[in-house]
Amino acid sequence: MKVLVVGGVAGGASTAARIRRLDEKAEVIMFERGPHVSFSNCSLPFHLSGIVPNSEKLIVMDPVQFKKKYNLEARVGQEVIAINKERKTITVKQVLTGETYEENYDKLVLSPGAKPIIPDAQGIDAEHVFTVRNVVDIERLKNYIELTEVKNIAVIGGGFIGIEVAENLAAAGKKVTIVQSAKQVMKPYDEDMAQIMHKQLLDNGVALELSTTVKKVEASKITLSNDKVIAADAVVVAIGVTPEINLAAEAGLAIGVTGGIKVDGNYVTSDDSIYAVGDAIEVYHQILHKPVRLALAGPAQKQARAAADHMYGITNHNRGVIGSSSIRIFDFNCATTGINEKIAKEAGMQVDSVYVIAPDKVGLMPSSNPLHLKLIFEVPTGKIVGAQAIGKGNADKRIDVIATMISMGGTIEDLKDVELSYSPMFGTAKDVVNIAALVATNILYGRFKQIHVSDVRKLHEENAFFLDVREVKEFENGHLKGATNIPLSELRTRMSEVPQDIPVYVYCRSAQRSYNAVMALKNSGFNQVKNVSGSFLGICLYEYFQDVDQQREPIVTKYNFK
Ligand SMILES: Cc1cc2nc3c(=O)[nH]c(=O)nc-3n(C[C@H](O)[C@H](O)[C@H](O)COP(=O)(O)OP(=O)(O)OC[C@H]3O[C@@H](n4cnc5c(N)ncnc54)[C@H](O)[C@@H]3O)c2cc1C
Repeated sequence: MKVLVVGGVAGGASTAARIRRLDEKAEVIMFERGPHVSFSNCSLPFHLSGIVPNSEKLIVMDPVQFKKKYNLEARVGQEVIAINKERKTITVKQVLTGETYEENYDKLVLSPGAKPIIPDAQGIDAEHVFTVRNVVDIERLKNYIELTEVKNIAVIGGGFIGIEVAENLAAAGKKVTIVQSAKQVMKPYDEDMAQIMHKQLLDNGVALELSTTVKKVEASKITLSNDKVIAADAVVVAIGVTPEINLAAEAGLAIGVTGGIKVDGNYVTSDDSIYAVGDAIEVYHQILHKPVRLALAGPAQKQARAAADHMYGITNHNRGVIGSSSIRIFDFNCATTGINEKIAKEAGMQVDSVYVIAPDKVGLMPSSNPLHLKLIFEVPTGKIVGAQAIGKGNADKRIDVIATMISMGGTIEDLKDVELSYSPMFGTAKDVVNIAALVATNILYGRFKQIHVSDVRKLHEENAFFLDVREVKEFENGHLKGATNIPLSELRTRMSEVPQDIPVYVYCRSAQRSYNAVMALKNSGFNQVKNVSGSFLGICLYEYFQDVDQQREPIVTKYNFK
């Protein structure tokens, strides 16, 4: 068997290596138009801060090692410019010389990835505008910054790559502004969780320009669509990627509804001899039950293995994707899996969510910190459809547990009971994921009612009755303006002070004491009582960035983020 692979990084190199493991005799040739194969795309931004000091370290394996270790041929600097399906050949162009030649195949694998989208702005093709896709890109950017002593940098795009680039540039001492067209960064997260990220960026000196785009790029500044001018000696564009489908489309291979290459469950394209994997294809979403595009390394590598297996008659159970990812934003770890509440609702799904703030380790442990976890579940089935976690501790571990649950069709009942390892240094006996599921079951079964942090401002403006059940000292250290303070420890003797005829919204620091207060009131005949999910800490985190950004009047007397 002779297999040709287009693209020599995540999907391409993984397919080639798997083929070799299955077949010692196959002839495998990988074609890569760039100078490097098998590099760590995901680590590229970390070269900017020096976490990866040497860009050569980004390259996992070179063509010589591929030959020695895997007996695979990796041809770099060679671009595949045509697929001749009928002859079962490809046309290859030597990038340096422009010479072309043909190579025949029994099977062809396409893993050409996705390229950065470039916004339509005046001056966007200037020399000091960069994208980040490969080692050459990151070296160019880093060299430029160092050689021209750049101080101010605008990062266009507040997604994964934009934020990682911004964080690493800030760590390198640069003044960074992120420009984002949406009203929040990191769209896989819901707006309430994104507010925590906004504060984190702001606290670490990264400026945020939301709901605007770049209109014009000049030597040391950019102009935004809202006419604001931002100092920028260099500009990094990271507004998203678009699949590289030209080769496939020109060869007449089917392109899916999302614009990615259409494949079947085994990653076979509309031509039986051609497979496609990675960022260039469209995949089936396990929860949304429709094709989507998902530009992530884990799925690309799994698809690569499945495609190689299929060539050798090994069955692949294609479960579809759920979309799990993680990112560090300064000292916060953020992770998400499945779909967020906004997407679920837009898809017409009936869902609800809970937001819990619980210690990531036993409070006595020195590194114990609050973990913010949002869990989204279907109503009335309780099926888990997504989760988002943010905190200084292991947000990714919690999300991975939930990702496993979602992949296996788990419900909040399953998550409530899942037995996880525990030691005070690693977690709590009832882990935050168990707690979130317990709260979710209470909500699903109507044991108590809640409102979300995003509801608070409107209710506050309507003069709703907020009951703060924290201790007096905590109350004095910041509370919702106009709230009534009755500490939980005094509630049972002071219930007469709580109105029965209007809705009462109860909060504490993190919604645990308020839950107890809600249940005590409910069981004493108060039937208009609701818990404020996320409580005062959640409210402060939700409101803070928006208050600063919009220069609006806070609804709290003082923020308290502890
Ligand atoms: C800066 C950055 C950070 C990232 N961070 C993460 C992360 O933290 N987590 C995560 O899950 N994912 C991350 N990703 C995404 C992840 O890297 C991709 O999903 C993954 O690399 C996709 O694999 P692929 O093989 O489809 O494409 P790629 O890895 O991009 O490889 C495609 C290769 O094909 C080559 N090529 C294209 N067309 C041709 C042609 N005609 N002839 C020859 N060669 C061709 C390209 O030059 C390219 O090198 C990140 C990506 C970037 C750029």
